Amino acid sequence: MDLTTLSAFEIADKVKAGEVSAEHVFAQFLANTQKINPRLNAFISIHEQGLEIAKKIDQRRQRGETLGRLAGVPVSLKDMFCTKGIPTTAGSNALKNYVPPYSSTVTERLAREDAVLIGKTNQDEFAMGSSGENSAFGVCKNPWNEDFVPGGSSGGAAVSVAAKMSPLAFGTDTGGSIRQPASFCGVVGVKPTYGRVSRHGIIAFASSLDQAGPFSRTVLDSALALEVVSGLCEKDSTTSETEVPVWSKHITTDIRNLRVGKPRQFWDSDLSADVRKSCETAELQLKDAGAKIVDVDLPLVEKSVSIYYLVATAEASSNLARYDGVRFGYRDDFSKEPPADLEDFYSRNRAAMFGGEVKRRILVGTYALSSGYYEAYYKKACQVRRLLTEGFQKAFQTCDVLLGPVTTQPAFKIGAKIRDPLQMYLNDVFTISANLAGLPALSVPTGLSAEGLPLGVQLMAPQFMEQSMFNAAQVIESASKFSRNINGLR
Ligand code: GLN
Repeated sequence: MDLTTLSAFEIADKVKAGEVSAEHVFAQFLANTQKINPRLNAFISIHEQGLEIAKKIDQRRQRGETLGRLAGVPVSLKDMFCTKGIPTTAGSNALKNYVPPYSSTVTERLAREDAVLIGKTNQDEFAMGSSGENSAFGVCKNPWNEDFVPGGSSGGAAVSVAAKMSPLAFGTDTGGSIRQPASFCGVVGVKPTYGRVSRHGIIAFASSLDQAGPFSRTVLDSALALEVVSGLCEKDSTTSETEVPVWSKHITTDIRNLRVGKPRQFWDSDLSADVRKSCETAELQLKDAGAKIVDVDLPLVEKSVSIYYLVATAEASSNLARYDGVRFGYRDDFSKEPPADLEDFYSRNRAAMFGGEVKRRILVGTYALSSGYYEAYYKKACQVRRLLTEGFQKAFQTCDVLLGPVTTQPAFKIGAKIRDPLQMYLNDVFTISANLAGLPALSVPTGLSAEGLPLGVQLMAPQFMEQSMFNAAQVIESASKFSRNINGLR
């Protein structure tokens, strides 16, 4: 039996019931990964030791112990999540030899519920990018067509699920890095409310925007996975005390009276014909299920990309200061030419360890924070961010969820945008605002483009209201019949 077509939910059920062994499940996903990964480069490291962990889970079941909610479910983690004793690179040369002495809260909570790590996935360096091309470990490829990017920065995570190398993955989303690759690869991807999931042990990019979240083939799996990792964490003071609902139990396609808002600014944008059609189809599906469609305004949303590239770069320039070759990071080879002074030592180390995009962000962020510019750039961006957030609050007085595109077009060709940073940044026009406002948002597949590439739509909800977003996504998933068994691999 091909166990790699099962959802995480089904795997956990069958393992708990003793119908399949965790070892057998893991062995099949591992075999798939070893076969497919050399073509797609979705993993930076593969965790074969997971097989032993899976065996222990089976032994515990045989002894009559109660297993966790993700019993025997293989899970991949973006290489941003610290894994004790297992290399964690953030896709950067700076951390190519880094083996963390501790695990992130997400890593621990998944293990506590008996999920089994299958590997660490490829990503844009320090999560900066929208295509998976900025990795120090090589470009990751889209399984639906290997000439195309998988999206980014959590490209490897999306590919690991789309190509059935794991039923579940976790990534991070600072401006769209879960939702955009999810839509490019035809899987579900969820960015939760800021403060739902602990950032402890996740390599920091922009701390006021970073959130971790799941990728899966079904909405139900993402809901279940998010339940497992969400909630207060004493090691991250920005986590919320708000109760974590059991979303997966309460998912319903009965969305009568749900008010679905169509942000004018999103729908009036220049969208490719495929993307527009997929949004319109999703709108009809929600309407057919009883939802009420309303037009809403999101003033200032067109400023999102500008705000983001000041706030995110400012925070990144500060977070990445620790990679100096002393406390963290790579030390250059000084054997031929010793450093002239301390500044020379730092600057040579930092020049050697970061790729071009990361350097660009550090420069922009440092500039935006420097005296004389701080008020004009960083502070102004924070003020407009506040107004944007208030705009969302106002929009949510007339609707319960927002529906719109994830990106203006489906996946693009490898190399198409890498030389034009602005074009690359514009990939995130529709996703960034949810990060700026701290809102939950997800991408759910709707079908394929004329070229045979996956399409998705985005749903957003007010803070801590993930349930209505999951329900609407479930309606779209059920109506779209985008089979979770379709395998993008040719
Ligand atoms: N693509 C955006 C960037 O390059 C968002 C990345 C992310 O969400 N980590 O910053």
